[in-house]
Amino acid sequence: MRYVILRDDDTHALTPISSLERLYRPFLDRGLSVNLSVIPEVRLDARRPDGRIEGFLPEGHRPQAATRRMEENPDLVAYLQANPGYHVVQHGCFHDCFEFDQVDAAAAARLMDQGGRRLREAGFERPHTFVAPHDRFSRAGLAAAAQRFEVVSTGWFEWGRQPRAWLPHYAWKKARRVPHWRVGGTALLSHPGCLLSRNRPVASILPAIRSQVEAQGLTVLVTHWWEYFEAGEPVIPFIDVLHETAAYLANTPGVRVISFGELAGGAVSLD
Ligand SMILES: [Zn+2]
Repeated sequence: MRYVILRDDDTHALTPISSLERLYRPFLDRGLSVNLSVIPEVRLDARRPDGRIEGFLPEGHRPQAATRRMEENPDLVAYLQANPGYHVVQHGCFHDCFEFDQVDAAAAARLMDQGGRRLREAGFERPHTFVAPHDRFSRAGLAAAAQRFEVVSTGWFEWGRQPRAWLPHYAWKKARRVPHWRVGGTALLSHPGCLLSRNRPVASILPAIRSQVEAQGLTVLVTHWWEYFEAGEPVIPFIDVLHETAAYLANTPGVRVISFGELAGGAVSLD
């Protein structure tokens, strides 16, 4: 069996329900899990690494407050809870730029705990999976995530950012050339870059996904809901590819789409 986890980043209190519904109804109707990496208390002027406003914020938005909590959008919370195919995981706290890239242990703990508290205040269960904004962790940030979460999903693992106590495990992972590993009770997952991205030629996306899924036992596919919309309008060819991906995943024998939570239970091998 080959396993696939779909991870969509950056849902927050201002994400339109209609956008998620447009993208993911074909997944939900087929019983395919959609893991939404949710920003607990989004910074309303969050910036990308290049200084521009983050693409997940509405264009021309003039915020009245510094942040907005998921709890402040009860309709969105109710929509996510009404569709059990959605699985909420924690995406940082505010989604400040490289929020966990430089943090020490105390700051990492404070941000992770505040984010978790905000999700619970909105009515979600304690998240078991953590995704850092821009997939970047300091050494202390990665250690803090592993202490608190059963699953950590990120881009890749660098030698210089591993907690020192992990280095023998990390060397063993490198020697085996495996994409995912476990330390203690935590599953540490890498991903092959954002294959489902508007920055790739649409014709290349599904072939790249197929070859990746066929190449390894567990693949994390990362995408961003807001890339499928341009100035509020749907980008039809890109949405079509996402929906072709749903059909491919649902109809291919030997491929099963799971949630991060199924990994947390330890029932699925990472190899
Ligand atoms: Zn993000």
